[in-house]
Amino acid sequence: MNGIDATFDRLEAEFNAPSIHELSSPLLNRQWAQDAEDQKHAGIHPYPSGVVAARPAFNQKKMRELLDMNSFEVRDRLYELFKDPVFAPRYNDSLDEQRARTIQRWSLIAKTGLFRNALRKFTPEGRRRYEAILESVSALDHSLEIKMSVHYGLFGGTVSLMGDDEQGDKWMPKIESCEMLGCFSMTELGHGSNVKGIQTTAIYDIPSQTFIVNTPCEEAQKYWIGGAFQSARWTALFAQLYVKGVCHGVHPFLARIRNESGTPVEGVTFGDCGAKIGLNGVDNGRIWFKNFRVPHDYLLRRNSQVSLDGVFTSNFKSADERFGASLASLSGGRVSVSSGSLIQAKLGLTIAIRYGLSRRAFGPPDGEETRLMDYPGFQARLIPPLAATFVMQLVLNHLKPKWQHRELGRELHVWSSGFKALISWHALKTLQETREACGGQGYKCENKIGPMRNSHDVALTYEGDNHILLQAVTKTVLPEFMRGFKNGGDFDGHFSYLNDRAALQKVDLRREAALFARLATEIKKKVEAGQSSLQAFNHSAVLVEDTGRAHVELLMMELFHQTLSNLQSRGESELFDILSLCGALHIARLVDSQAVFIRSGALTALEAQNAHNNVQIFCQQLRPQVLHLVDSFGYPPHLLAPIAFDYVRHNSRSRL
Ligand SMILES: Cc1cc2nc3c(=O)[nH]c(=O)nc-3n(C[C@H](O)[C@H](O)[C@H](O)COP(=O)(O)OP(=O)(O)OC[C@H]3O[C@@H](n4cnc5c(N)ncnc54)[C@H](O)[C@@H]3O)c2cc1C
Repeated sequence: MNGIDATFDRLEAEFNAPSIHELSSPLLNRQWAQDAEDQKHAGIHPYPSGVVAARPAFNQKKMRELLDMNSFEVRDRLYELFKDPVFAPRYNDSLDEQRARTIQRWSLIAKTGLFRNALRKFTPEGRRRYEAILESVSALDHSLEIKMSVHYGLFGGTVSLMGDDEQGDKWMPKIESCEMLGCFSMTELGHGSNVKGIQTTAIYDIPSQTFIVNTPCEEAQKYWIGGAFQSARWTALFAQLYVKGVCHGVHPFLARIRNESGTPVEGVTFGDCGAKIGLNGVDNGRIWFKNFRVPHDYLLRRNSQVSLDGVFTSNFKSADERFGASLASLSGGRVSVSSGSLIQAKLGLTIAIRYGLSRRAFGPPDGEETRLMDYPGFQARLIPPLAATFVMQLVLNHLKPKWQHRELGRELHVWSSGFKALISWHALKTLQETREACGGQGYKCENKIGPMRNSHDVALTYEGDNHILLQAVTKTVLPEFMRGFKNGGDFDGHFSYLNDRAALQKVDLRREAALFARLATEIKKKVEAGQSSLQAFNHSAVLVEDTGRAHVELLMMELFHQTLSNLQSRGESELFDILSLCGALHIARLVDSQAVFIRSGALTALEAQNAHNNVQIFCQQLRPQVLHLVDSFGYPPHLLAPIAFDYVRHNSRSRL
């Protein structure tokens, strides 16, 4: 028996919910998926019922390739696997059933062999394949994606990025094959966003050549740790490192927390986090340590080392730099959270737009009722988020290669933080809007959007709370602005556009410039009044977040325009035209929906009115293409929902 089989056989026995082996349920009539499949085999496009589609203005296959970028065979192979009844959606299952089903599904995916050699070395090809697997899983079951990405991405990512080459070579193959099943123990009850303040201690003990780990108070218990309550045998553990009485700040360790049989090792106690508002397939747990011993070799030592006789050395001079470097795996986490958020938005939009094309309501007294999608008010709710989703996906596609090539610098930090915040907020709003757009049908679990909204919600909080991430963006970029501000208005780097008055024609540049100038002035005044610069920054928090958002939205538009010019230079005029329209709608909508453009003086009332009018004009222009746009996301029928097809047939008496 190989490692994967052995691990999952054991886990499936431990996660014992016999009911998960019953694969049929009277509440889950999946005939609609079979109907759509039959239509496809008969060469009929499974459009929503009664819909006659306009001629596509672009090639959908090319669009999908642009969006997904790579690993199409991997994605399609998994979509095919997801036809297995084990993957059919289930609702209102107990906590035990949800956790057991997650293991059952993970086992089938792990056994495909798709992960082989994807993670043991951090290579661009491996990362691309790994991300494609996780993205495909995300389209099926968000809980499953998170369960898997905690093990491979957060746990494995920490070992491969924070361990040195020798440690990576030793442990990564076993992590890839799930022989070492792990979790990621950073957050504590008392410290989540403020990771620097965690209180778990790891004190190096020279005689025994071990680190002695303790939870000094209840606030220091590890909390929310995905996989910790039941499945994980190992963890990437973050603790304050003490050597010879000196604290060197937060450091990562690899630690075995359970024996292979599942019993806790000495010095470790576990608790359950219990039922959550979503993601209940993940067994989030709590951990306490009492004189728990971690061998000397298990400090992940790429950045900091402790010799056997207790001499601490580091590749970084300051504790702050060391701390920043030890969080590198979180940047990758933010890239995958952003991808996962966009997948949920795409699915929600696909289902709601297809339903809006076939569902009719009201109309002329003696004529047919009007399709929802033909009402401008309905268009204004779904088409702007559709356009934003295309823009954000193509922007994220600039970030993914940076992470895959392990470019771990300042840019990765700013982009991943800012994009994760804005993309996850966008997805949550989109899921709520698409839920409402489907009326009562949106409230049914089998129509998927409601459960997706609930499970996605936490994306705003983990891998960095969104507000804190926007603050971090401003904190990182502000010094660059301050340099020009202090030396009399001679700006360089990102802000060199301020030296050219003509550049300030663009409203998003004007907003960013105005907010940075206002923030710099406010901080200067507060410092002159006696506050420390940290106090002054914290007391300007609302402006700080506005400024961060302005910076990220501007960055996104710049990157999106790079994509457009690449398309233009490759002669892809159809894609260029439709995506230019998406970009124009996205920026008009941003300007129309945020008073900060007016407050910052970046916009005149006339320009505001124009932006408002443009939203409706651009929605109408995109309306004939919406079905092709959502189809280009490439999700097969069985990953959608009955209302995306013939909802009347699905609900007919004969289908009872
Ligand atoms: C389902 C789930 C799974 C998770 N999985 C893991 C895991 O596997 N491993 C792990 O280590 N962690 C995990 N986490 C923890 C997660 O990363 C933290 O919850 C997150 O970092 C936020 O920390 P917190 O909950 O302590 O909130 P806090 O940091 O206490 O924040 C609470 C609120 O205060 C606000 N706030 C905080 N500071 C400021 C400030 N300076 N100015 C203004 N507002 C502020 C925040 O915006 C937020 O709204 C998970 C969490 C959840 C819910």
